[in-house]
Amino acid sequence: MNSTMKEKILVTGGAGFIGTHVVQKLLEEKDDVHIVILDNFSVGKADRFMPFCTGTKRLDIVKGDVRDEKILDKVLSGTNIVYHLAAVVGVDRVISMPEETWDVEVNGTKMLIEKCIYHKVKRFFLASSSECYGKYSSHSLPMKESDSIMPNTNYGKAKYECEKICEQYNREGRISCVAARYFNVYGKFQSFNGYVIPNMVMQALNNEPIKIYGHGDQLRDFMYIDDTVDATIKLIESELTGVYNIGSGKCTSIKNIAETIIKLTGSDSMITHVPIRRPTDIESKLSDNSKIRKSTNWKIGHDINTGLKETINSYRRYLNECNCNMRTSG
Ligand code: NAD
Repeated sequence: MNSTMKEKILVTGGAGFIGTHVVQKLLEEKDDVHIVILDNFSVGKADRFMPFCTGTKRLDIVKGDVRDEKILDKVLSGTNIVYHLAAVVGVDRVISMPEETWDVEVNGTKMLIEKCIYHKVKRFFLASSSECYGKYSSHSLPMKESDSIMPNTNYGKAKYECEKICEQYNREGRISCVAARYFNVYGKFQSFNGYVIPNMVMQALNNEPIKIYGHGDQLRDFMYIDDTVDATIKLIESELTGVYNIGSGKCTSIKNIAETIIKLTGSDSMITHVPIRRPTDIESKLSDNSKIRKSTNWKIGHDINTGLKETINSYRRYLNECNCNMRTSG
């Protein structure tokens, strides 16, 4: 590792969807950083999603687990800032691996923060989730950070536990942590399987039926990846602590998303409705993002149409490069 660089940043889960974009943006915008990615590659892929890595001396990729103390000592030595994004993500994965989900989230986060304190890390970012809020009916939207928290999934409970761990360390003045409750993030390079927008885009590009679970009137707060990354970096570069919603503050129904994707792709796909798979699915979500907007100079650059156009173009390019049809499992 190059020790002459000014700032050393660790990104756990840096080979995943959001992590890849965070790393890319940091490398593009800052000359004086040395980034280390720690990822176990259970989901993340260095080869397909990180063409920008090749040849740069400012990036190291370490394959390992966030619960591995020895690896943590190695990657944290001399580190100033940590973006903690590693987690078991995706509804199907979380349901099929409840113990692993809890262990990676809660025990992994606790061990990582303890190690950060030992290595005198200045700032710690936790990727939390709107799943912390639990089930909301549409009349009580939008979701505010000050609302009472009632997570109803293992994943949501684990994320909330991590927030509480961060809060405790903040209170004790041992490290400076900030947590972001991401809502539904979408955009280029998101993996195809199990996520609403990638599934629908691929179905539309392949002229296959677009599957909607339930009536399709469920509201979601979708935010484009570039705006998410921008908010993430602004939060960690501030001195703010506590919890912040990162969402667009606008909601769109699932049915509307499907119709917009069909229109933007010029697809012949028809919409089909299938029964809802999980009773825990949250009916509607909408963020109140005024706390982060008032505390930083973050501004949203993409509305849902612009974001979807960029997402569709990226999947089109990908399909052209592979010269293939991708099958989705959604
Ligand atoms: P992702 O699955 O693409 O990325 C997570 C990365 O963590 C993957 O590369 C995976 O290989 C890695 N990982 C998993 N377990 C690990 C372990 N034990 N040790 C080391 N690496 C491990 O997911 P994402 O969408 O990029 O999400 C990033 C973070 O944001 C996660 O903490 C997630 O819970 C949170 N989040 C995401 C969304 C969203 O809409 N994408 C919404 C809410 C919260």
